[in-house]
Amino acid sequence: EMPACSFKPSKHEGPDLNSVLSTRKNNLNPALFTFYKEPVYVHQGYMQYLWDTNNKRYLDLFAGIVTVSVGHCHPAVVAAAEKQMKKLWHTTNIYLHPKIHEYAAQLVAKFPGNLKVVYFTNSGSEANDLAVLMARMYTGVYDCISLRNGYHGASPYLMGVTALSTWRYNNPTGFGFQQAMNPDPYRGPWGGKHCRDSPAQPGRQCDCPQGQCKACDMYVDQLEDVLRYSMPKGRVGAFIAEAIQGVGGAVQLPDGYLKKAYEKIRANGGVCIADEVQTGFGRMGSHYWGFESQGVMPDIVTMAKGIGNGFPMGAVVTTPEIAATMGKALHFNTFGGNPVASAVGQAVLEVIDKENIQGLCADVGTYFIKELEKLRNEFEVVGDVRGKGLMIGVELVKDKASRTPLPAEEVASIWEDTKNMGVLIGKGGLFGNCFRIKPPMCITRADVDFSIAVMRAALRKHANKK
Ligand code: PMP
Repeated sequence: EMPACSFKPSKHEGPDLNSVLSTRKNNLNPALFTFYKEPVYVHQGYMQYLWDTNNKRYLDLFAGIVTVSVGHCHPAVVAAAEKQMKKLWHTTNIYLHPKIHEYAAQLVAKFPGNLKVVYFTNSGSEANDLAVLMARMYTGVYDCISLRNGYHGASPYLMGVTALSTWRYNNPTGFGFQQAMNPDPYRGPWGGKHCRDSPAQPGRQCDCPQGQCKACDMYVDQLEDVLRYSMPKGRVGAFIAEAIQGVGGAVQLPDGYLKKAYEKIRANGGVCIADEVQTGFGRMGSHYWGFESQGVMPDIVTMAKGIGNGFPMGAVVTTPEIAATMGKALHFNTFGGNPVASAVGQAVLEVIDKENIQGLCADVGTYFIKELEKLRNEFEVVGDVRGKGLMIGVELVKDKASRTPLPAEEVASIWEDTKNMGVLIGKGGLFGNCFRIKPPMCITRADVDFSIAVMRAALRKHANKK
């Protein structure tokens, strides 16, 4: 049973789902009606829970795509937004305002090293667009490298950086970007064959000494290949990667890969961009930022999603040297660092510290992964369980030996069943066969127990159909 919740949602007033589906469907982006067979129609949220218009409660394990970081309508964030809204909504950056200064100082203080200058944007796509521009301005080199299976945004330009065919449409891909092979320890060409399926830790972790993974070295050699063959005169402008690939299905890069990749890029004149849109703000549990969990120090970091707990905002943090070259361009946007966004961002940082969100991610995340591993041992279709903190992926396959992705309709039916039983999970990966578990970072062990019970029931139902 779902853990008790004392919050009482209000009664929904307005059109119900049926009337929306019948009369309003044609007004909206048709993509919005393609997710669940029977759509979820939510009208209220509190912390880790959502209520549909019939006030059925759901446990939200996807947090509006890894965005509601500290909880739906978290009271401290609501209070900060409300207070600022009554004072000043908008100025543009033509006029300075106190909130943007307070917030910038607090945000930058969360970064190690020389990452000291912040640019505010309105989304992750916009942050990555800016990061690439910065890198090119700084290095004077146009050609860049990203990883296959990475997701960095949906602007036409970023469709060339994002290397998931699912998210590429009718426009030129590339824009100066070449992709290196994805170091996916489960599905990559060298996945599993070298160290992942070691006798000591079957199915899960690499046994190689830290930073000396054999498969990892092969992927680094492949990156070197891209540098040699595709980058003009071997010079590279930038390398962009996530520490754990979000949209790609919570793919965990092998330990040591990013470190070696960064070394290669820097030896060829490039700067390193860490995309922390999903992995930042304590979600890793062990570290505040994903890049720290990989032991690397980027030159540019991009953020969005969790930075505002659902408020549309993003940011780029970089070094004074890179900012100085950027200074030659009058880079500017209308909304970035808006007073309300700054107040919200500030409240989110404070909640993360006050409520020990990072510690909670470590504790509840470790517990979640352990419980999911039990499901992997129980069900043939649960091929892989991976992740760190509350950034977790579960890959569904036909059988463990072949690792063939479970057909889309079977994944969809398990997914629909978990939803009907009150648990909202994310879906992703190139084959759409990965469950993505990235809840608001306030969930409890009791929520984990409930989620596992629901997943077990849905997986059992699927197994019984066979
Ligand atoms: N980078 C990563 C890692 C993301 O997951 C996303 C969004 N899914 C983006 C960038 C783009 O962010 P937005 O949707 O806010 O433009």
